[in-house]
Amino acid sequence: MRLRIVLSKVNPQAISVPTRCAYAGCGGKKFHLRQEVRKPLRDTVYQEVQVHRYQCLRCQRTFRVYPEGTTRAQTSQRVKGLAVMLYLLGLSYGAVSLALDGLGISLCKSRVYDAVQEASKRVPGLKREQVFAGVKTPALGADLTSVTCKGVSLPLGITVDPISGLALTIDALTAEDSQTLKDWIEPIAKSVGAQVLVTDDADGFKTVADEVGVQHQVCKAHVLRNTEDLLDKYQPLVACDADGSLKAIGVSPQQAAADLTRLGELVKSANGSRPRN
Ligand SMILES: [Zn+2]
Repeated sequence: MRLRIVLSKVNPQAISVPTRCAYAGCGGKKFHLRQEVRKPLRDTVYQEVQVHRYQCLRCQRTFRVYPEGTTRAQTSQRVKGLAVMLYLLGLSYGAVSLALDGLGISLCKSRVYDAVQEASKRVPGLKREQVFAGVKTPALGADLTSVTCKGVSLPLGITVDPISGLALTIDALTAEDSQTLKDWIEPIAKSVGAQVLVTDDADGFKTVADEVGVQHQVCKAHVLRNTEDLLDKYQPLVACDADGSLKAIGVSPQQAAADLTRLGELVKSANGSRPRN
């Protein structure tokens, strides 16, 4: 995947002198600069810029001329561009809003949505699906994590192509129940053409895989971790044959302990042959 993105600059000094009246049908070409107006701006660098207010000498109406990288909108072109870029890279509208917030720009997710809609009108065919278009993977990896945002724990869903290791999407989730997981996974699985969903062994994912119609595989890194936990739990129990069940089947505690150690080695070596995901 390669994106070529040029973010527009904001240049407060660059305000061009109008050559035509801004009103359709007037055609006036001479103007009087009436005043400079301060305009508050949502931007990474400038909090405000100066805007020129001109009056048309033919129709007498006034209009504003904005410096490079700004429009009548409160948000600068580069912040909108950044929002669109993050969205195209796979973040949800909400996650874009969070990422921008981390950069000190507050842009709520509906403004992010507006910026993406606006860009998609100007660039025909601009869709996130097109970023995914080259990405087809038979296996889709999904994992849940959480980040603390303003003191509140926020569940995040991350999908990866487990074969290349490419992160596909990062979404802020509203919950971790299987319906939410399904709404999150299904469109991505369809988009990349996944046949296998690779996750940890949480029950929710098994249900999702069944409902989406893909196979479910528990990620090997999670198998290793779970096996190691079980070994730690069972080793002291078999050492003393706590409930006499080993004696009942004719296995010595030494043999059982050796078998468990061997099991751990086998799982580790099977897992070690592939990169962990
Ligand atoms: Zn005019």
